[in-house]
Amino acid sequence: MSAVRTRLVRATPSAVREAAALLRAGALVAFPTETVYGLGARAFDAAAARRVYRAKGRPCDNPLIVHLADPSDLPQVARRITPLARRLAAAFWPGPLTLVLEKTARVPAAVTGGRRTVAVRCPAHPAARALIRALGEPVAAPSANRSGRPSPTTAAHVRRDLGGRVPLILDGGPCRRGLESAIVDARGIRPVLLRPGTLTPETIARAAGVPVAAPGRGAPPAPGTRHRHYAPSCRVVLAPPAEVRRGALPGARTRGAGLVHRSRWPGRRPAFARRVAGGPAAYARALFAALREAEGAGVRVLFVETVPDRGVGRAVMDRLRRAAAR
Ligand code: AMP
Ligand code: MG
Repeated sequence: MSAVRTRLVRATPSAVREAAALLRAGALVAFPTETVYGLGARAFDAAAARRVYRAKGRPCDNPLIVHLADPSDLPQVARRITPLARRLAAAFWPGPLTLVLEKTARVPAAVTGGRRTVAVRCPAHPAARALIRALGEPVAAPSANRSGRPSPTTAAHVRRDLGGRVPLILDGGPCRRGLESAIVDARGIRPVLLRPGTLTPETIARAAGVPVAAPGRGAPPAPGTRHRHYAPSCRVVLAPPAEVRRGALPGARTRGAGLVHRSRWPGRRPAFARRVAGGPAAYARALFAALREAEGAGVRVLFVETVPDRGVGRAVMDRLRRAAAR
């Protein structure tokens, strides 16, 4: 693909108008959301959607998420909108929840990876909503990283991955959530959690009025969640809190080692160390940026402290396990 000049601009009203004009013309625009930065294209334009896959180096069977300016736009992209979907949208939109529903004919197969279903959400970031509203139609967007890399949580991360491949990056500051949306299949009676997010299964179940189900045995997981993913160029090694507190990580004191942690690390820290204060939500917010910083610092083996696999921690551990998969 031929290189384009990439501009990174603050998401002012005039920049948003310019971004909408680019989208209308079939070009790509990276934009902030509350979860991670997205790489957007007109959702009703198959050729524009194909540009997204090309820019990311993404396999074409890994579908995009359609973003709406307003929950009331849902019927444009989804049919057979279930009572469950209505309840979840009412409870969490705009917000970090993606619903999987049957798609309408207007959504091209290029957006859904050839599926009859569409993943859709209404993002909470004001710049994202302003952009989609200015375009006047839904925007299809995966995370704005090169395929397989950690999702970008700042505009600078996007430039690093997609500079020369996207004409415009709207800068809306660091993402408040820091991990991708929770994805729920809402076609049935019970919500089926396809990908955990910072919105916890407990919170989703409360709004749904029924417990959250895991994908049926033998059912395929959400596409794109199978493989090594979310990974920086360094090796990621998971470090349980007890071992961090004891300073008992073999290799952590050798050159090229790095550490991302919450617990106190006794003694001399590795040359690269990021301690994240606060609970699992703060860890979620800081995680992808820390992975990218470690990579930038030349770390070869990065030890990352784990968190309990529940609540927000479930999404953190989902991403961490994939980042560490080899
Ligand atoms: P990303 O925003 O980069 O995390 O990519 C969007 C993700 O949404 C994909 O990797 C899939 O996991 C998920 N997704 C998109 N469309 C569907 C769908 N029709 N069914 C299930 N999952 C989907
Ligand atoms: Mg992604």
